[in-house]
Amino acid sequence: MKEKKKIVIVGGGISGMATAYRLSELSRAQGIPVEITVVEAGSRLGGVIESKRQDGFLLEGGPDSFISEKPAAQELAKRLGIANEIIGTNDKFRRSFIYKKGNLIPVPEGFYLIAPSQIRAFLQTHLLDWRTKFRMGCEVFIPKRSTNEDESVANFVRRRFGKATLEEVAQPMIGGIYTADPEYLSLEATMPQFLELERTYGSVIKGLLLRRNAKRKNSTQSASGPRYSLFLSFKEGMKELVDSVVKNSPDVRFKLNATAVCVTRMSRSTNPFGFFSFPLKACGYDKKTIPPTSLLNSSRNQCWQVDFENGATLEADAVCIALSACQAAPLVISVAPHLAKQLAAIPYESVATVNLAYKRSDIPHKLDGFGFVVPAITKRKIVACSFSSVKFDGRAPGGMVLLRVFVGGAFHREIYALDDNEMTRTVTDELRHYLGIEKLPLFTSISRYPRTMPQYQVGHLDMIRSIQAQLSDFPGLYLTGNAYRGIGVPDCIKWAESAAEAMYTFLKEKRKSADLNSVKGSSK
Ligand SMILES: Cc1cc2nc3c(=O)[nH]c(=O)nc-3n(C[C@H](O)[C@H](O)[C@H](O)COP(=O)(O)OP(=O)(O)OC[C@H]3O[C@@H](n4cnc5c(N)ncnc54)[C@H](O)[C@@H]3O)c2cc1C
Repeated sequence: MKEKKKIVIVGGGISGMATAYRLSELSRAQGIPVEITVVEAGSRLGGVIESKRQDGFLLEGGPDSFISEKPAAQELAKRLGIANEIIGTNDKFRRSFIYKKGNLIPVPEGFYLIAPSQIRAFLQTHLLDWRTKFRMGCEVFIPKRSTNEDESVANFVRRRFGKATLEEVAQPMIGGIYTADPEYLSLEATMPQFLELERTYGSVIKGLLLRRNAKRKNSTQSASGPRYSLFLSFKEGMKELVDSVVKNSPDVRFKLNATAVCVTRMSRSTNPFGFFSFPLKACGYDKKTIPPTSLLNSSRNQCWQVDFENGATLEADAVCIALSACQAAPLVISVAPHLAKQLAAIPYESVATVNLAYKRSDIPHKLDGFGFVVPAITKRKIVACSFSSVKFDGRAPGGMVLLRVFVGGAFHREIYALDDNEMTRTVTDELRHYLGIEKLPLFTSISRYPRTMPQYQVGHLDMIRSIQAQLSDFPGLYLTGNAYRGIGVPDCIKWAESAAEAMYTFLKEKRKSADLNSVKGSSK
């Protein structure tokens, strides 16, 4: 029987899990035997995906949904056989609010993060005053930018729609997703759709209107198949996706409480007395004396070693590091110091969510939406609040409400730094202000995610291209995760699957060349 190719995936978040599942799918379909091990530092899988039941409520610590526009999560769910577990948002209340001068004002229908696509709703909204609306309307006359250089989201919005749109609408809407300061956020890495609209139509509004009309025409012509809302989740929460990967991957080993500390290249040699592995470090190489890449690349028996905090090691033909960039950097510092430096340069913000359970009768607000976002210019203390049990069914028992407040990020580091009691007090005070809640919650639950939100700064994609180019010097080493080309769950899955496919191709090639060499050897 052919020797199994060994793969180690570092990190048991959705990126690592999706990498493992795709690899095991490929191996099953194409017959190359692989031994896949996922190593996870924590005591559970899922990373920031954390769903738990408490007193009949379903709490989400991390992501509570995924968007249907990017299909990777839905497709993975289908392949896992849990498509029937997917739920859409509650149609009756499909809208959100933005906080302005003491009120929660509905985002006008058809408003797409920074720009309107329905003129009537836009003209009627109280969210923007007439000056701001006029300035926004002028967007159709503003010429497109002549250079192709990346720019900040703030610059783009100010340039096309004016300062008030940036501060009152774009910043809170985008801030809710990236917990970032748009002054630093890269447009091409985070909102490429707007850049593309400007480049194609010369105007974002014009582009949105034209596309909306075209879509309308098409959808009346072919209205078939299930229609999901923009945000989707699972009946039992996002954790269903993680649990289902485990259930459907009997061939994958999941090792918990295994903190990887170092990834090194080794030259592997076979001799008549058996198999020996020589880690480069053990051979006297350190980060200053790594042998030339060409030498390593030419070594057909090259492999990788993952060292763990407890002194254990794992050997692999290929390694995928599915961690945040700041966690990946120290792992590769000895083998790829320049790569490590670039990874460490991607900034991160910390965020926390506070789930709060209430009796419905204790909340005076109508809760006729999915939640609200709070502009940073208001100098208030939270980023956003979801009306979780309104947004999705099954999140709270009858007569109860589950709210989820987002704190931290680039504008609220001091709130993230509060201890649990202070954070709860701050959040309940804030909710009194927005929703008029005087009563204390039945219970609260805080989830903290230190340095988990990558900040895609201007020039981010150039940095990623450079990281990618450097990786080609390290055959068998792969990186995936939310640091690179998208932070949402669907993007993490998409790029994890693409890393898995690249790994599989690499292993196939490696096996082919090993087969060729053994044929050559036996014919001598
Ligand atoms: C509060 C919050 C809300 C969000 N909401 C949404 C949302 O609604 N929709 C959406 O699409 N996206 C959302 N996101 C973004 C999305 O959830 C994340 O980007 C994505 O889940 C990240 O997955 P990951 O596997 O790349 O990283 P992680 O989930 O961070 O997983 C990395 C794993 O690696 C482990 N690890 C770390 N170091 C080591 C080591 N040295 N050795 C071994 N293991 C290690 C960690 O313990 C962790 O389990 C949200 C994120 C947060 C934090």
